[in-house]
Amino acid sequence: MKCTVCDQRIRRSEAYFGDKDTLYEGKPLCETCYYEDEPCATVIYRKDDTPYIISETRNETEGNFRVRWRSTDPWRGYYETSSDKYSLVNTAELLAYHESEQMLKEFDERTRELFDEHEIEYARVFARSSNVFYQNYDLYAKKDQIFLAGLLVAKAKQEVDYDNPKWYHNIVFDETALIKLIELFPEYKIKSDYDATKLVEELGDNALNELQKRMKEKRGASDG
Ligand SMILES: [Zn+2]
Repeated sequence: MKCTVCDQRIRRSEAYFGDKDTLYEGKPLCETCYYEDEPCATVIYRKDDTPYIISETRNETEGNFRVRWRSTDPWRGYYETSSDKYSLVNTAELLAYHESEQMLKEFDERTRELFDEHEIEYARVFARSSNVFYQNYDLYAKKDQIFLAGLLVAKAKQEVDYDNPKWYHNIVFDETALIKLIELFPEYKIKSDYDATKLVEELGDNALNELQKRMKEKRGASDG
């Protein structure tokens, strides 16, 4: 038989099969493709420091969590997580080197403190995107504890000033660049820097061309 990923010939006795709840579920794989697939998400339960990996071939959470690729274009997107046993209580966007980093760290610590205090069974799921500087941090709580968990998340948010819009500014673009983008791409209804990042992601390799084209048009219009 052949490995589904790399086409290499493998003996039936040496074949690995993709775990349940993965993209390659039940498909024959060689040892390398089975083990060396890049993790899509990492799950950490409560105080357990062990990371449980979900890749496209392996699911170490035994089906507690699943991931699905959400594409924003053929090359870009992110992994969306889901679970039957746990409910999502919060999603945060973790941006490397961004000013919100410290606040989100405090939010994470405070939430875990409150959850431990109230014996909430929870899991933190870190899911990858096509952008190496950006990942999703999904916080889950056991389904029957969702109400209390939600209240505790709200409390932690208040304490760390989570909803202050200042955290969501200047993620990639400064104020001037943002105003320019809002002007040039009115149909995208850009409100925050985050929307602008989405726009650039969506346009992909075309972003620069499109930007130059629109700037030219704008200049043409004001000259004319
Ligand atoms: Zn292979």
